[in-house]
Amino acid sequence: MQTAVHAIYPPRCLVCGGLVESDFGLCGPCWRDTPFTAGLACDLCGAPLPGQSDRAEHCDDCLATPRPWAQGRAPLVYAGNGRRLVLMLKHGDRHDIAATAAGWMARVTRPILREGMLAVPVPLHPRRHLKRRYNQAALLARGMARALGIDWCPDALRRGRHTPSLDGRGREERFATLDAAITAVPRRAGRLAGRRVLLVDDVMTSGATLSAAAAACHAAGATEICVSVLARVTKDH
Ligand SMILES: [Zn+2]
Ligand SMILES: [Zn+2]
Repeated sequence: MQTAVHAIYPPRCLVCGGLVESDFGLCGPCWRDTPFTAGLACDLCGAPLPGQSDRAEHCDDCLATPRPWAQGRAPLVYAGNGRRLVLMLKHGDRHDIAATAAGWMARVTRPILREGMLAVPVPLHPRRHLKRRYNQAALLARGMARALGIDWCPDALRRGRHTPSLDGRGREERFATLDAAITAVPRRAGRLAGRRVLLVDDVMTSGATLSAAAAACHAAGATEICVSVLARVTKDH
């Protein structure tokens, strides 16, 4: 069946559109130019770290800012093709990217998966959702749930009011602004109570949005939270 489908729709590279031989999603040259995280990474956010270690290590950001979640993973660094893929997914109506990207996320996230975990996407503001018609985090969460064989709930969280632009605001203010903006949807709160939650988003920058989403899950009774993002923004890129 897959062979027949491939004969009619040969797989294309997600970045350059060239033909590819595998289902991996990228051609050789684009794959080489894509900053996949490999080797030692921060146990809380997936940022690559130098050296090797037998125990969980944390990046400077996660040491400086307490994270309200237990562990986190990211298959990509937000640079080069990593950044390009996120932007195409977010603004380019490229739903094909979500399925492949979710597979990459599932692979790095599987080792931290907990029993009975529920995948929950970080919500978009309703106005942005209307304009964009889809929440890229929800597409990723759906793909991850499929790949990992876990449940997911696309509308467990919401942004309650318009989130002002965060540009030019200090770190504390960003956290405070976002904190109030994400809440559990009352009719879905039962699904979060007593549950382990895997929060899913496309990008982690400061972690403020994920922190607000995690706080909302905890407030609804979630017992433990892990996070998985497609790409982690790091200082060196
Ligand atoms: Zn390519
Ligand atoms: Zn970190």
